[in-house]
Amino acid sequence: MRNMHLPFSGEPLAGLQILGLLETRTLDFDNVILLSANEGVLPRHTDKPSFIPFSLRSGFGLPGPDHEDAIYAYYFYRLIQRAKNVTLIYDCSTGGLRTGERSRFLHQIFYEMSLSVSEINMTASIARIPVKPIAIPKAGRVAEKLFLYKSDNGKFLSPSAINEFLNCGLKFCLHHLLDLPQPVEVTEDIDARMLGNILHRAMRILYARFISTMVTKTQLEPLLKDGQHIDSALDKAFAEEFYGEDEKDGDRKIEGYNLIIRQVIQTYIRQLVRADLESGPFGIVSLEEKHLISMPISVNGKRWDLNIGGVIDRIDSRQGDIVIIDYKTGTVKNNFSTIESLFHAEKQLRNEAVFQVLLYAHIYSRLKPGQTVIPGLYFIRGSHSDDFSYLIKHGAKREVVASYASVKQEFEDWLTQSLTEMFDERIPFTQTSNPRLCTFCAYKAICRR
Ligand code: SF4
Repeated sequence: MRNMHLPFSGEPLAGLQILGLLETRTLDFDNVILLSANEGVLPRHTDKPSFIPFSLRSGFGLPGPDHEDAIYAYYFYRLIQRAKNVTLIYDCSTGGLRTGERSRFLHQIFYEMSLSVSEINMTASIARIPVKPIAIPKAGRVAEKLFLYKSDNGKFLSPSAINEFLNCGLKFCLHHLLDLPQPVEVTEDIDARMLGNILHRAMRILYARFISTMVTKTQLEPLLKDGQHIDSALDKAFAEEFYGEDEKDGDRKIEGYNLIIRQVIQTYIRQLVRADLESGPFGIVSLEEKHLISMPISVNGKRWDLNIGGVIDRIDSRQGDIVIIDYKTGTVKNNFSTIESLFHAEKQLRNEAVFQVLLYAHIYSRLKPGQTVIPGLYFIRGSHSDDFSYLIKHGAKREVVASYASVKQEFEDWLTQSLTEMFDERIPFTQTSNPRLCTFCAYKAICRR
């Protein structure tokens, strides 16, 4: 933009006149205020390219940069010659290409002329405004929205909403109760979230043919061999998830970087099918179906029945047991230290994936009492390894959680306690004390963390 020139035009005898320094040559002013009296601006730094070297220019008396500086010096001194008051302002801040140096003309005025000069330094005082903690009381609109989770309303608390509350009460409140939108980045390329969505949808499309049947090697091997079913499920998932509802026919061509992502997802799907092939046979009970329960809690002597639920990626039946499966595309772990650690985020990062699948197992075992329910996580990135297992493990000894029943009581107690705290009107929604949770939070600017 520095090289741009903007011509001004106007009637010289009417209104405000905008002139260049050149046009001031025949005008005298009583008051002159010059902004940007910095070296490089006054005189303007000129670097006109020329084939004639400087020594030849000066040898033959041709005009050069020094000549240009002399012209500027003339304009400047002529302008202030008859002025009564001259104010010269320069910026002493440095940064980028700015040196913060005052103009050579100012030095001349200071050291070579016997003018009366008064110098004023102006600084803007910058002070850190103390960051105050934010707490939102459970009253008014917040309380109204919160109590919509009671079971006589349609709203339900999903594992991700509860996860958000356990990580940071304020974030849960801003997101779910005050509906403060989290910025969604619209990109031409696929991000990690979109990759997960496409994979989930493609798996649902691919396995829909197996619902209520027994899935064996005979059914899975052809999927891997000809690859046609995987490809068409993937293209359909791409069209629905990435290109939107109106692209359901899958006609749009996947190009560029997205083609690489398609290849990655295809590899993941093949890994999953192979892992299923090794661990089969199994039956598919449901795919991406919503499951809801009503959970009683008692808050300050009042009983609330809360709606809790969510969409479970996949439910298998294996040797008479039910396996709750959640696909995970990120870098997550399938082990956790204690059940209590899943409910406290103050010191470490909670294992949200394990919490989510245990909550699904809790919901399902409430819906089907007496049924053995096994929580399982499919870590897509680890599904190619020989020792891949969907089972979750806990404690220092990494003991397998072979049935949700083994942790049910403890999990339910902590869950009830956390939900009671969520609905206790005496406890406001506050910020997390674990700053690691703020790193990628959309509300960082509000909290100034
Ligand atoms: S920035 Fe931190 S404290 Fe603020 S809402 Fe997000 S997670 Fe909570």
